[in-house]
Amino acid sequence: MTKPSDLYEYSYEQNKIAPKNRTCSRCGRFMAKHMKPSPRWACGYCGYTEFIRQ
Ligand SMILES: [Zn+2]
Repeated sequence: MTKPSDLYEYSYEQNKIAPKNRTCSRCGRFMAKHMKPSPRWACGYCGYTEFIRQ
């Protein structure tokens, strides 16, 4: 299991917790962030893609 401290990094400047990585909602593995052609998180294992709304 992955500890929450591995998933989040604390930003002292902004005083908030930002997600460092995202896990696939389908297989639970870490997803890769791609900015082109459109911002999205993509799972390299099962192909699940989650688009980032801006
Ligand atoms: Zn996946």
